[in-house]
Amino acid sequence: MRFPIKRFLSYYKPYLCLFLSVLFCALITSSIALVYPLLVRYITKDVLADQGALDIQNVYWTGGLMIVLTVLQNAGNYFVDYKGHEVGARMERDLRSELFAHMQKLSFSFFDHEKTGKLMSRITNDLLSLSELYHHGPEDYMKYMVRFVGAFVILFVINPSLTMAVFCFLPVLGIFSLFFNKILNRALTKNKERISDVHARVEDSLGGIRVVKSFANENIEIHKFNGENNRFLDSRKNIYRAEAIFFNGVETFIQMITLTVIIYGSSKIVHHTLDLADLITFLLYVNYLVEPIKQMTHMSTQLQEGLTGFARFMEIMNTKPAIEDDSHAVTPSSIQGKIEFKQIGFHYEKHLDPVISNLSLTVQPGEYVALVGPSGAGKTTLCSLIPRFYEVTSGELLIDGIDVRHFEQKGLRKHIGIVQQDVYLFDGSVRENISYGNPEASDAQIIEAARQANAHDFIMSLPNGYDSEIGQRGVRLSGGQKQRLSIARVFLKDPAILIFDEATSSLDNESESIVKASLDRLAKGRTTIVIAHRLSTIRNAERIIVLNQKGISEQGTHRSLLEKNGEYSRLYFREFSSESG
Ligand code: ADP
Ligand code: MG
Repeated sequence: MRFPIKRFLSYYKPYLCLFLSVLFCALITSSIALVYPLLVRYITKDVLADQGALDIQNVYWTGGLMIVLTVLQNAGNYFVDYKGHEVGARMERDLRSELFAHMQKLSFSFFDHEKTGKLMSRITNDLLSLSELYHHGPEDYMKYMVRFVGAFVILFVINPSLTMAVFCFLPVLGIFSLFFNKILNRALTKNKERISDVHARVEDSLGGIRVVKSFANENIEIHKFNGENNRFLDSRKNIYRAEAIFFNGVETFIQMITLTVIIYGSSKIVHHTLDLADLITFLLYVNYLVEPIKQMTHMSTQLQEGLTGFARFMEIMNTKPAIEDDSHAVTPSSIQGKIEFKQIGFHYEKHLDPVISNLSLTVQPGEYVALVGPSGAGKTTLCSLIPRFYEVTSGELLIDGIDVRHFEQKGLRKHIGIVQQDVYLFDGSVRENISYGNPEASDAQIIEAARQANAHDFIMSLPNGYDSEIGQRGVRLSGGQKQRLSIARVFLKDPAILIFDEATSSLDNESESIVKASLDRLAKGRTTIVIAHRLSTIRNAERIIVLNQKGISEQGTHRSLLEKNGEYSRLYFREFSSESG
């Protein structure tokens, strides 16, 4: 892919004025830095060369000017440091918001493949190095260019042959610098990999600490960790070695250049082709010639990391949601809740076997059906087609007689409520979590929803009632309590279609019956599909559908299916005997 330079530059746009003033300021301060040694030269020339005709007044004036310039230069640098970084940080903020908003739009299939840790590093580290490049890049290049070219021209005018003698060192220094830049970069990359290995080890081991302890395998864990920790140390040693060689190598070069100036310059003084003031000027300017080459490593790393960061950013920005609304998509204001699967087929990916093939099923508005069958049969998958989390790969799925592909996704999902086994609650208060179902709901509506979900009483017994913080993912609540909050959330949403995906499967008998009662209340008057693990919980369903890997094997009421003595009755009696036995 060609580098999207236009897009890269477009992020400067909102801050262009500010950034240009930062660059202008950097130009001024670099020019002042360039003038400074010239003033030193002026004074020293006065003092040294024209000893007899020394006009002390001139020295004072020049000294005064130098003080003014110093103050100006540092004030300018203050502006460059502060506002330059601010521009970078603002651009980084914009990119981050854009990336996050884009991630929110992507379909489930994207998140099936990407690891959260990787997405996290895109949103943090990658953008950080990008912001560094955005502001430091142009600032540094300009600063070093002005100083390098300026110093070269000035020195050349003062004494061409001494300038060329100094200049001879620079290509050698450049090659040295590039070579060690490569080694250093390699060491830095390795180091990043090693540190993430250490992180992964800690995460894995501490995350599974219950297993570690129950198998009494602490020593194995310590041994594995120390292995990673030592490899991390080795990678650090490599960085320090490369850095030490590089920095001291550069210093050696600088000292050699200085010595060349002093020795070759002195010989010129002896031959009266240079004076002491010029020699001092040379010594002051040498650094301006060396500095950019010394910084080459740093700047090229910055450039590389920043551009990689941008490429990674664009990779996600260029990922289109797998499911997009078509341009005539409708937003239904209300729906009846009739669901028709018409000979549908579905596979998660082209190269995978279909999970569902040629399945037909109609659920009437307000009907209460149960979906049962072995794990892996495709029950969850089938239900995730209804809100268009995934798109059918063949056949049609109709809601109220309209193909779901004609609905706007968000508009459709407003009318569908899902309660899952694995409840996800957000860090925040009870009230915030319930009102997630309808952010505009009043307090009275929130309390009513909680009552309907059998949650009001336990909420009132929490230390701060509805304002109690529930902790990350609701760690401070029991499984049944979390489930009741998630049901209250759906009550508030008031959808026409309900999907309960093993909503009570992980609960003990007592909380199961409380949760079941609130689910039954929620289901009244809505089309409901219940996926159940324990068949005893769905006996009262109007229709029970048995799904296996081949498709729907049988359907009917609990009674009729038992009479049929087929797959359902086999499953039912197996559960019954295991519960009573
Ligand atoms: P059930 O809910 O009946 O237990 P699922 O619908 O969860 O079954 O899974 C049906 C099949 O689809 C399984 O073989 C499972 O491995 C596969 N599957 C489920 N989710 C995904 C996914 N996101 N990507 C690929 N395959 C999946
Ligand atoms: Mg499932």
